[in-house]
Order: sequence, then C-alpha cells, then structure tokens
Amino acid sequence: MSSVAYILRGCRASPSSSLLLPCTTTNTSRSFSALSFSPSPFSFPSSSSSSSEKLHKVHPFLRMEHFWTGSSIAKTKNKGLVEHLKEYGVIKSKKVAEVMETIDRGLFVPEGNPAYVDSPMPIGYNATISAPHMHASCLELLEEHLQPGMRALDVGSGTGYLTACFAMMVGPQGRAIGIEHIPELVAFSIDNINKSAAAPLLKGGSLSVHAADGRLGWPELAPYDAIHVGAAASEIPPALLEQLKPGGRMVIPVGNIFQDLKVVDKNLDGSINIRNEASVRYVPLTSRAAQLRE
Ligand code: SAH
Repeated sequence: MSSVAYILRGCRASPSSSLLLPCTTTNTSRSFSALSFSPSPFSFPSSSSSSSEKLHKVHPFLRMEHFWTGSSIAKTKNKGLVEHLKEYGVIKSKKVAEVMETIDRGLFVPEGNPAYVDSPMPIGYNATISAPHMHASCLELLEEHLQPGMRALDVGSGTGYLTACFAMMVGPQGRAIGIEHIPELVAFSIDNINKSAAAPLLKGGSLSVHAADGRLGWPELAPYDAIHVGAAASEIPPALLEQLKPGGRMVIPVGNIFQDLKVVDKNLDGSINIRNEASVRYVPLTSRAAQLRE
C-alpha cells in the first residue's frame, strides 16, 4: 500500500465539502498529508509536475473563484475554511485562527486551483503549497515561539503563505525570514505577500524572503525562536539545529517515503528533545537540481 493511500485511508472527509482533515490512527499519532491530494471534484489529478501553463487551462468555476479572490466572497470562503479547521479541532488557538483569517490563502494559490479546499496544490517546479490543515498544525505547534518580537525562519517557503503568517505573529519588532531555493518561487511569494495583509511588514523589513539553500539556514539573523521546514529532510540539517535558539522550537518533516513531523525543542541548557507529532508526506528538502529533475 502506498504511503499516500495509508495516510488518506483513515481521514475523514467533511460532509459539506471535499475538506480533508487530519485523522487519528491506531498505531501512531496523527496522520497528515501535506502532499497528497484530496478527491475534490476540482482538484488536479497529478501533483507537482504540473507546469504553470497547465494551471491556466482551468474549469470556468475555478476562474471565477480566482476572480473572487480579494473580494468579500474570498474573505468569506477563507473564513469558512478556518471555521472548518476549528470545528475539526485542528485550530485551537485564537491567535492561529486570527492569523489564518487575516492571511487569505487565495492570494497564495496559483490560478486554477481551488484555494479554499483543505488540500495541497501544485505551485510548479515540483513543489506544492501545503494543505491548510498542515499550515494550521505547524502554526499551532510554533505559536509560543512566534510571540511579538521573536525571530522565525521558514525553510522551503514556497508560496510565502506561512512566512506571511509568521511575520504577522512576530509583528514589526520581530523577524520572519523565508528561504526558498527556486528563485521563481521567491518572486512568486513576494508578489503574493505584497497582495496580502503582510505587505507592510515586507516593506518595513521585518519580513523577507531569500533565494538560498535552506539546509544551511540563514546564519545572519540566527538564533531563531521558531524554525519551520516545509520540505522533508532525510535527517535534521545540523546548521538548522545550530541556529535554533535555546528555548526555541523547530518543526521539521524527516524521512524519505515515510516521514514524521518532528518537534525539536532546544532546552535552555542546549540539550535537545525530539518527538514525533504525526505521519506526513512532504516534497523533499533537496538540491535545486535534484528537485527540478524529479
Ligand atoms: N510551506 C510552503 C511549502 C512549499 S513545498 C508552502 O506551503 O507554500 C516545499 C518547498 O521547499 C518548495 O517550494 C521547494 O522548492 C523548497 N525546497 C526544497 N528543498 C529546498 C532547499 N534545499 N532549500 C530551500 N528550499 C527548498
């Protein structure tokens, strides 16, 4: 059985939509899928290999949905998505709900994809924007380390969605840094952020996105209170561990086909605690050449 099938099997589908939610399994903790696709009537059959041109050949409904983005209808749909995540217990924190309501996912999902369905979506370059339940879970896990004035590093920042959420949480006195190794995605994420509620933070300099190899972190602004890695590493990159502040937390998927979302806490004395939060499926944290060859 493929890992995707395994992950999807125990998940509940929302009665009112194709919302796919984290589920409880008997053998491990929760299972989440950041990569697999829900059986939405509007979702695309294949994942990461879709080119952006392909994404423009879309069902008229999806064109309309994109047209609505930024309107009050988009706001209502984004709020509806957050409500679903609250209802299913993925979002527990008021702060996380607020930030996900403020940063409209529709501004970060490429045209032609249903932005408000709880599923990952292709963003080109063999990458995906993670599913909303994954974004919500990571924000929940990191919330205490995203207090105003703190520093957050988002490795594999892709569309910039989570980097924008981090920036809103740490505020203008904090720092949120996105690292993405595909320059075109860096440009895409900057455009997206500029359309979002986080635009003033980008302009003010507390939010930035850089084209670089995220496995090396971003030493210039280390140490970080929060590190999020949005792609699966075969092992925890030592540079990221080093750049984590004592008292800080890193959330990182680790593994190849079967991956665990690991929560790495650096204690004040520098010792490390690691626990597995969930079984997940992410695109690999790799070299640019390997990713584009996939
Ligand atoms: N959190 C992002 C996830 C994007 S998918 C979002 O929801 O939009 C994972 C991203 O990691 C991809 O954009 C991919 O290009 C990037 N990535 C993979 N390996 C990387 C590396 N070594 N350095 C930086 N980015 C990397």
